[in-house]
Amino acid sequence: MSISENLKSVKKSLPTHVELIAVSKTKPNEAIQEAYENGQRHFGENKVQELVDKAEVLPKDIHWHMIGHMQRNKVKYIASFVHLIHGVDSQKLLKEINKQGQKVDRVVPCLLQFHIAEESTKYGFNYPEVLDLLDKYFFEDLPFVEIRGVMGMATNTDNQEQIKREFDELNAIFNKLKPHFSESFDIKSMGMSGDYKTAIECGANMIRIGSTIFGKRNYI
Ligand SMILES: *Cc1c(COP(=O)(O)O)cnc(C)c1O
Repeated sequence: MSISENLKSVKKSLPTHVELIAVSKTKPNEAIQEAYENGQRHFGENKVQELVDKAEVLPKDIHWHMIGHMQRNKVKYIASFVHLIHGVDSQKLLKEINKQGQKVDRVVPCLLQFHIAEESTKYGFNYPEVLDLLDKYFFEDLPFVEIRGVMGMATNTDNQEQIKREFDELNAIFNKLKPHFSESFDIKSMGMSGDYKTAIECGANMIRIGSTIFGKRNYI
């Protein structure tokens, strides 16, 4: 199947309130262009350099999502244009995003990444850490950061029950945090090619799909 056919069939299966991020990491510009020509405007990358290189040459109305682990020293390269940073997982990173946002006079939209998976390798806050930050009015000191919601990745497993439990947990975290943030705290980014249907059942309104649209990758 071609990229455009894959894209159409994924889109057909989505409720209208779910935003599709086409994850184009490691894929060439031609692949992105093909999805773009079929109406796709939101794309996700997990490496800053690759995101910047692609953004430079591809159409300007693409919304670029940084979905990977975000290194602090690289925030400066994307602060002026990134549509949404999904992988925000530390106080220090939040401070840096605020600082770089201030430099370019732009409020940078971010999601708080939560660690919901069993694997110890996946990044993210846990709920008590964020409660603690709220107690300290930490977010009030970040005028150039806009917290738009939450992001998480479930354990890489075939156990649907476990995946559902983890996404339910993220959904519950979202509901508990929502009263503490502004009206624009409205995004739940969860679900990838293997588990997006479960994610949507559990409340996802943003999904990040790579291989189902663009085909298998040779590396992460
Ligand atoms: C690679 C990646 C995806 C997409 O994965 P697929 O299984 O190819 O759909 C989604 N989210 C994140 C954070 C990723 O790094």
